[in-house]
Amino acid sequence: MEEIKTFKELTREVVERGICGKCGGCVSFCSAGELNALKIGKNELPQYINEENCLKCGICYLICPQTDTLDVEIQKRFGWKPPIGDFQRIASAQTTNRRVKDICTDGGVVTSLLLYLLDNNLIQGALVSKKTGRFARKALIARTPEELMEAAGSTFSGSLHLEELGGKYTTYTPILSTVKSLEKEYLQDMAIVGTPCQINAIRKMQCLGVLPAHLIKYTIGLFCVENFSFNHVARKRLEKKLAVNLENVVKINIKDDFIITLTNDTTIHVPLDEIHEIARPACLACHDFSNEYADISVGGLGSPDGYTTVLLRTKVGVEIYDEAFHKGHIRETPMGDMDERLERTTILNKVVSFAKAKRTRAEKRLSELAGEKTFEEKT
Ligand SMILES: Cc1cc2nc3c(=O)[nH]c(=O)nc-3n(C[C@H](O)[C@H](O)[C@H](O)COP(=O)(O)OP(=O)(O)OC[C@H]3O[C@@H](n4cnc5c(N)ncnc54)[C@H](O)[C@@H]3O)c2cc1C
Ligand code: SF4
Ligand code: SF4
Repeated sequence: MEEIKTFKELTREVVERGICGKCGGCVSFCSAGELNALKIGKNELPQYINEENCLKCGICYLICPQTDTLDVEIQKRFGWKPPIGDFQRIASAQTTNRRVKDICTDGGVVTSLLLYLLDNNLIQGALVSKKTGRFARKALIARTPEELMEAAGSTFSGSLHLEELGGKYTTYTPILSTVKSLEKEYLQDMAIVGTPCQINAIRKMQCLGVLPAHLIKYTIGLFCVENFSFNHVARKRLEKKLAVNLENVVKINIKDDFIITLTNDTTIHVPLDEIHEIARPACLACHDFSNEYADISVGGLGSPDGYTTVLLRTKVGVEIYDEAFHKGHIRETPMGDMDERLERTTILNKVVSFAKAKRTRAEKRLSELAGEKTFEEKT
């Protein structure tokens, strides 16, 4: 029988190798939660506080998005195939709701789908990420249309948040610890919006029957090249490099490149290569760009401005998108048949090329960490 890997191995293989994404999943879902076996410690990294209380069940190891023990199982469940996992259709779409259009990140498809689900009582709420500052966000269980609106988009027009001024900036929101609170709040039938690592952890929990992951009915996955984290020094370096004052940023977005919109309506496009230095180290070892296990994956990549690229993957994903579309909550890019086919192929090719590049980067990083040569270097 295969030996169970526990938090000890998780520490050695993930935390100490510098590829922990600080998602908080292992600590939040530790079976010995009541026994205080683990906690989030220094630098937001998980650690043992009472090793003797560890039940050695191995849940923490299995659900971590940076381990691969359950990969084959979830690949089988979701009919995964290279290069970007299974999907039924690709579309470029936008909201028909004026309010959403004004505040959304790309085409507002995410917020419109969530509003549709909530209005039709298909969910009681959604786990989203709400803006609290120019770069700061926090997890939120949105139960009303207003709360969903608060989470839409990536624009921020208020003054700098104290937390940002004193602490570090990050574009990552650790939403998994909030999943844990769903049961306590007697919520059922939830939707979740998350990065590939977060959706990966949710799928692993669902696969193992870890509560309360069963309450999540719909997963909307964001494309993700990387998330950023920068302290005061990195921020100053970036300001110098880009010749901008980050206090004047009102919106950030990633498509082909990193897009910064300033208070004076100027838009700056920064090649992704130039900002990798502020990527979270764990992200450089992450191989999923297109959120391969979500019901619906979304991003701005490939679509015209004001539209969201949508990959419809699972049966439930296709169902809710089609219902929302047919009831007029979202519309697709208006094109003739031939153009439409060509356009979809172009968008898909872009997604595939970003996915391949991210996989190669992860393979390279993991080989470096293991002191091995990459496949490319060997050949
Ligand atoms: C950190 C991050 C990295 C991304 N990287 C890429 C990329 O490389 N390429 C690409 O094409 N697209 C990327 N996206 C996706 C893109 O920015 C849009 O979110 C997506 O196109 C949906 O747009 P929309 O207008 O339909 O969404 P909206 O209707 O504006 O809704 C956005 C939803 O995203 C949620 N959200 C925002 N920030 C976070 C966060 N940090 N964690 C979890 N949920 C969050 C909000 O709660 C909201 O529900 C990324 C998004 C994020 C948050
Ligand atoms: S990536 Fe998440 S689950 Fe894995 S060790 Fe880090 S905090 Fe824990
Ligand atoms: S690149 Fe994105 S999906 Fe991967 S670990 Fe970083 S935040 Fe998570």
